Amino acid sequence: EYLNESQRIAVDEVIDQFTVDHNKLDEIVSHFIKEMRKGLNAPVKSIPNGTETGTYLALDLGGTNLRVCQITFLRSGKLTIKQEKYEISDSLKTGHSSKLFDFIADCIRQFLIDLGGVYDSPLSLGFTFSFPVDQMAIHKGVLVRWTKGFTAAGAVGQDMVGMLREALKRKNVPVKIVAIVNDTTGTLLAHAYENPATIIGVIFGTGTNAAYVERLENIPKLDLNCSGKMVIDIEWGAFDNERQVLSLTPYDEKLDRISLNPGEQMFEKLISGDYLGKIVHNVLLDLVGRNLLFSGRSSSGFDNIGAFKTPYMSIIEADGTDDLVYTKQLLEVELKIPETTLTDRQIVQRICCAIGLRAARLSSCALCALIKHIGVEEKGCAVGIDGSLFEFHPGFKHNLKQTMREILGKTADNISLEQARDGSGVGAALAALYAEKDL
Ligand code: ADP
Ligand code: MG
Repeated sequence: EYLNESQRIAVDEVIDQFTVDHNKLDEIVSHFIKEMRKGLNAPVKSIPNGTETGTYLALDLGGTNLRVCQITFLRSGKLTIKQEKYEISDSLKTGHSSKLFDFIADCIRQFLIDLGGVYDSPLSLGFTFSFPVDQMAIHKGVLVRWTKGFTAAGAVGQDMVGMLREALKRKNVPVKIVAIVNDTTGTLLAHAYENPATIIGVIFGTGTNAAYVERLENIPKLDLNCSGKMVIDIEWGAFDNERQVLSLTPYDEKLDRISLNPGEQMFEKLISGDYLGKIVHNVLLDLVGRNLLFSGRSSSGFDNIGAFKTPYMSIIEADGTDDLVYTKQLLEVELKIPETTLTDRQIVQRICCAIGLRAARLSSCALCALIKHIGVEEKGCAVGIDGSLFEFHPGFKHNLKQTMREILGKTADNISLEQARDGSGVGAALAALYAEKDL
């Protein structure tokens, strides 16, 4: 089956809009190096070396799920972890923040009951809170703005540790919160525990962001003579909100318009799990409306906002069957499109691949800009990476690395991209461990 002339022209035109060519990569990297100043200080002073010990609780509020973990560090980079996952409903994300924190406190209580442990004193907890936070201290962080579909009222400008403490008190849950970290910082700490060569932590999950270890002597405004380290939370999801180098397609524009934070987190919106499926969806709906896909027929289910989820891209892009049977099943059974031809499915696959590829190439720009900013192209380093997009999307890792080679040349091979599983949970527990030591 072949595309007809108007389909071919339309699909090529769409793919073209999502293409980031080599010159564009360089332009974006140069601009992003200037954007590095947007970073926030994360008051973490110690980087793990694998010899830490103790038992801590961790709470991970990522954007899609809430995880509660109990982590025991056993020395020499080994640990045991028990964890439970709780889904956060849209009404909790967009209702009043006291309801959200009550829910979190309930989850922690349930987790402790399920553990069945009896403790002499309350366990210490590290809180991974993956939103932009202005950190006054390791145990105090004020929410700057919500991202990733959260709008819960009464939280912006408040200390997130304080709000959680109050909820725990309301619910009578005996836990001591000693640290709050961003998921990027958590991932960095957790991966450094496994591999001390780690100086960068990255998230490609619901959202995207990174943190890195900065030597204090590189921060002129601190004017310190001491040599030491601190962690900087880059907040690269907000890079180029001014759109100086990022080119948005009409499908990205539509996504931004109907998002809860128009004009914000523009880089994140082209890259992360919360958005990619929605961009694909916008393209597919446009092609259906122009009678170029599914013979112009949709389904009521497919028309709904959010009907096309990012994990579908992974299934479709990995579909290597001649007839694209997995894609067929997804479109016809899951999304209830009345009938699809092989051509339809090939078009859908090409669109998914183009949008997935753009996400990886743009991600590579941010990562390479950071590597150049730190100046470790030659020396090399390890990067701990967490998030479902990185872990499960079939082409993402490969495309990320390929694009790094395009930007950095052979020095790209000095940079080791490593999966940091459970990074945000383990990192919060490590932050709690250090906070206790410093007390
Ligand atoms: P969080 O960011 O909340 O910590 P995750 O790292 O699990 O959570 O990322 C969740 C995001 O990843 C969601 O936006 C989801 O759409 C996306 N996602 C989950 N599974 C896959 C998959 N198999 N392929 C691509 N994206 C996925
Ligand atoms: Mg996470």
